[in-house]
Amino acid sequence: MAMTGLDIYKLTPKTNCKECGFPTCMAFSMKVAAGGVEISKCPHMSEEAMAKLSESTTPLMKAVSFGQGETEYKLGGETVLFRHEKTFVNRNRYAVLFSDEMPQEQIDAKLANMKNVHYVRIGEEMKVEIAALQYTGNKASYLALINKVKASGLKVAYMLVCEDLSVLKEALSLVGDEKPIVFGATKDNYQEMVGLAKDSKLLLGVKAAGLEELYELVENIQKLDYKELLLDTGIASVRDAFTNAVQIRRTALKEQDRTFGYPSVVFINELAKGDKFMEIALASLFTMKYGSILVLEDMDYARALPLYGLRQNIFTDPQKPMRVEPKFYPINNPGDNSPVLITVDFALTYFIVSGEVERSKVPTWLGNPDAGGYSVLTAWAAGKLSGSVIAKFIKESDIESKTKCRKLIIPGRVAVLKADIEDGLPGWEVIIGPDEAMHLPKFLRTMEGIN
Ligand code: SF4
Repeated sequence: MAMTGLDIYKLTPKTNCKECGFPTCMAFSMKVAAGGVEISKCPHMSEEAMAKLSESTTPLMKAVSFGQGETEYKLGGETVLFRHEKTFVNRNRYAVLFSDEMPQEQIDAKLANMKNVHYVRIGEEMKVEIAALQYTGNKASYLALINKVKASGLKVAYMLVCEDLSVLKEALSLVGDEKPIVFGATKDNYQEMVGLAKDSKLLLGVKAAGLEELYELVENIQKLDYKELLLDTGIASVRDAFTNAVQIRRTALKEQDRTFGYPSVVFINELAKGDKFMEIALASLFTMKYGSILVLEDMDYARALPLYGLRQNIFTDPQKPMRVEPKFYPINNPGDNSPVLITVDFALTYFIVSGEVERSKVPTWLGNPDAGGYSVLTAWAAGKLSGSVIAKFIKESDIESKTKCRKLIIPGRVAVLKADIEDGLPGWEVIIGPDEAMHLPKFLRTMEGIN
């Protein structure tokens, strides 16, 4: 349960020594309760107090991990129900389902789609993170399937969907080193499943016929001292799966009951019953509420573009602007006579502008000074994008050695900066660009004296 400032104050030495930077222990405690400072800033807290505080500040929803190396992912650790309260922490991950009963052509087609859908959007790599490998009764085919996915060269984590302990052990002999998820523990096999998962601390999927049974099962697994869990929301119906996903999260965060304080998995492929567009709609729904792993039938661009775009929006901190690194970016292979174009480091602005410059096919050096992550006009109004900021950025970069062209194009909306920039950058001609990025291609193509 979250501690109040008064609760924390009771654990401090109450000497008001000020070493933490606050005038009194009470002031310090209030700030800790508000999340504004770490408790470790007080060097005089007893070990007992620290232990109590760290327990109370551990998120009610446990953060778990799976996979290895570049395919290692974290789930859970969320502290709020709604993104407007505070940022969500660990984004959900998408899985594609394979099974031992699938024809080889279908497996090949899914693997090809997974390889194909791999791109970067606003600095984030978009791809399928998990291959969910379902056992339906043919052991030889199942093991061959695992080997096939392994040999495909795809960088994915594995989820072994298999309740047969002996088959699961053989599957683990193939991919156990890669810390797969093992799914699923039921009321009938959970002791053996926990035994199998515990040694390597593997994430264990837990499934039950309903929420009450799931709750009881998780309690039993916790009694075995195992807490690396992933809760199945069920596949009885869309309504049940959604209700369960919300109820699991609410129970953990609102009722502060850690029994349901784990991430969840939703088998969207089962709920959508082969309807691709229903699958996209449901995956969108569960991306927002509250599927941690979403298992899909396949991943092509029709699925990927809406889902990854949505996920990126949901799992960014609304209080922090999305930024790109302030520096010069070469667009269309610029050379030593290419012009210099200035925009800002707000990701949305940068990607719109860079896209239009690419579309122009005019080789250009595109620079974005540190403008606080704001859009052009906001940055200008906040004093983050001024003549001196741009002049300093140019001088401190090595752009003058990369191009002999001394034409500097600035956004039309900050035309007012022209004189200031020219004062700060002798030898440069500042050109007022268009107000809107969409007019850049024509502007660049018709600009005289470049390239
Ligand atoms: S350092 Fe610790 S003891 Fe000293 S004022 Fe801060 S909270 Fe109190």
